[in-house]
Amino acid sequence: SAPIEEVDPEIAAVLHDELERQRTTLEMIASENFVPRSVLTATGSVLTNKYAEGYPGRRYYGGCEVVDVAEELAIARAKSLFDAGFANVQPHSGATANAAVLAALAQPGDTILGLELAHGGHLTHGMKLNFSGKLYDAVAYGVDPQTFRIDMDRVRDAALEHRPAVIIAGWSAYPRQLDFAAFRAIADEVGAKLWVDMAHFAGLVAAGLHPNPVPFADVVSTTVHKTLGGPRSGLILSRDETYAKKLNSAVFPGQQGGPLMHVIAAKATAFKIAASEEFRDRQRRTIAGAQALAERLTAPDAREAGVDVLTGGTDVHLVLADLRESPIDGREAEDLLHAAGITVNRNSVPFDPRPPMRTSGIRIGTPALATRGFGPDEFRQVADIIARTLKPGADVAALRAEVGELAGRFPLYQGLEGW
Ligand code: PLP
Repeated sequence: SAPIEEVDPEIAAVLHDELERQRTTLEMIASENFVPRSVLTATGSVLTNKYAEGYPGRRYYGGCEVVDVAEELAIARAKSLFDAGFANVQPHSGATANAAVLAALAQPGDTILGLELAHGGHLTHGMKLNFSGKLYDAVAYGVDPQTFRIDMDRVRDAALEHRPAVIIAGWSAYPRQLDFAAFRAIADEVGAKLWVDMAHFAGLVAAGLHPNPVPFADVVSTTVHKTLGGPRSGLILSRDETYAKKLNSAVFPGQQGGPLMHVIAAKATAFKIAASEEFRDRQRRTIAGAQALAERLTAPDAREAGVDVLTGGTDVHLVLADLRESPIDGREAEDLLHAAGITVNRNSVPFDPRPPMRTSGIRIGTPALATRGFGPDEFRQVADIIARTLKPGADVAALRAEVGELAGRFPLYQGLEGW
């Protein structure tokens, strides 16, 4: 029972240093967020000690009567938040949730059709080194080369050509809303199941700021830790119980053993918070912040420096900066912003002329800063700092000082040491 500083000073230093990094820089990786203290407490709780293979009331271990309460709360809250008739809250991660969804909806060797990885799709939607590309015959639709938007006529053409068993709607890097009704119509036309992976935009859906895919899809999966703002983990939903048995057995024993009960408790807390007015306000600030960023990165001085924004703007929590005309490539932009104290990730743009290690884009997200308390003024300021950093010859040291001042105005996890 000795404290971590005594037991393991090296790891205590990691925890301390990471908190310091999170406090003093501006986190703009689109898939990241800051969990509230309550979620941190549940994640770091004694529930980590408990084995609970099975589902509430049907466990393979004794002593599950207390953790059952947590899982039942998580299920009820997830269903209510997304208007779903079924929820499985056990997936350890988004990737595990997705493996279970495909196991429930398709057979190995079946054709699956998802968004091209290089156009914003996810590894688990058919990338050839991922289980999804190895177990299934994965084919892809891409964005339109002029508009950079998903063109539903192209999706339909690909579906008619390949006759997939599963059509996947969802993305990791795409700045616009999806047309779920059109995806549903195409799936029905070709006799495919429709799976929506809303990992990135689930928080916006929970807040009512993005269409809810649950009424349209056969199955919906998501991560809990992106815009949704909960612990690192996954979730599977469905509008009714049609696939309940298949999905439950695909998660356990199909993909996983014992569920992480501490994380499931933290999910329950996160879902409760996501139903609040404060959460809705945070998601509104998230989208408004991304739109302010898109506006600044398409202003005349940014355009002169070769910077642009894919699709000209955003409807969601991220912006895809287009650096194809800039002398600064994606990797250099990521490094320059890192030096200025802003964390983003480089990202290939569709039809990218530069190689994947360099790229011609960066993905910039606003959820973490909105959680930190940023409003319109702060988002305008950070947008301006980013635009100035991406101009050749920027005074990065001066920009770093400005970032430090801005971060300092929004204290993070006050009173914590990193644990
Ligand atoms: N699905 C999408 C659309 C994602 O963007 C991600 C994460 O990047 C995942 C699934 C996988 O989530 P995890 O990293 O928790 O496995």
